[in-house]
This record gives sequence, structure tokens and C-alpha cells, in this order.
Amino acid sequence: MIKIKEIEQKAKEILSQLNIKKAPVPIEKIAKKIGLSIDKGIFGDTISGFLLTKENKNIIAVKSTESEVRQRFTIAHELGHYLFHSNKVDDIFISNVLFRNESSSTGEIRMEREANSFAAAILMPVDFIKEEIDKLDNRLTVEDAIKQLSKKFHVSEVAMTYRLTNLGYNI
Ligand SMILES: [Zn+2]
Repeated sequence: MIKIKEIEQKAKEILSQLNIKKAPVPIEKIAKKIGLSIDKGIFGDTISGFLLTKENKNIIAVKSTESEVRQRFTIAHELGHYLFHSNKVDDIFISNVLFRNESSSTGEIRMEREANSFAAAILMPVDFIKEEIDKLDNRLTVEDAIKQLSKKFHVSEVAMTYRLTNLGYNI
């Protein structure tokens, strides 16, 4: 099992290496810098994307018909698989809601969770969140604050809400 701290640390490291200091985090650029190519296409209803690694060729495929925020999360999620789970030689990870829910293997569920944690960590870095929260008008309602933050970070409101809760913000 990979510790949350390790996942957060990895995200931090990548952002600092690439000198990324502000939201929105350019996730496609990051994936490319790490050596992955992004392929946007149309697949079956239940698949959001997948990671395919072959020797000398690493591809993240993303469903082009999904919203931008969803695509960004998928790329970040697959990047998490690449960094933490892939043997980087010959692997495929499929992000598929049904597959996830029906999965009987706890190993798969664990990896899905870890990939989601990494996605949240890199798209909504702790320090960036703090900075943006400090800038918010404190007269905003929680709903409006989440709306503004999710726009700023180019993530869904659901993802932002989870992230803030996980970081211990009282919302
Ligand atoms: Zn996955």
C-alpha cells in the first residue's frame, strides 16, 4: 500500500521540478514531460480512459466526449497508475466506472484509490489550495467558494469538495 504522504510528496516533487506554482495545473503538459503521450478518442460508454505502457511508448487515452474537467482528472488518474503501479513495460490500466465497482479484487480497488488520491494531489495541491482560499472573499457561501475554487483549478465541484474535506477543511 502506498501512503497518502508519499502520494502527496510525489505530486509536490513533480510540480516543483516543472516549476509549476499556480492553478490550474497543466496536467497534459506534465504527463507529456514525464514521457506519456495523450490520445483523445471515443470509446465505450463505461470507459473514461486508460493507460497503456509498452516499451518506448506510453499512452494515456482519454475519452474526448467527456467534459474538460473530467478529462483532466482522467489524465491525472492514469498518470498516478503510471507512477505508482505500472511496470512501465507492458501494462494496461483501464478507468472504467463499472469495472471499478464490480471489481472483486481489493488490489484493484486499492490501486484505483491511490490513482484518485494522486489525481487530487496533483490537480489540487495543498499549497495552491491554501493560497486560493486566502484570496477568497470571506462573505462567500460555501457553495460559491467551491464553485470559484473548482473553476480556478479546472476540476469538478465534486472533486474539489472531496479534496477540501480530505484536507480537513470544514465545509
Ligand atoms: Zn484506474
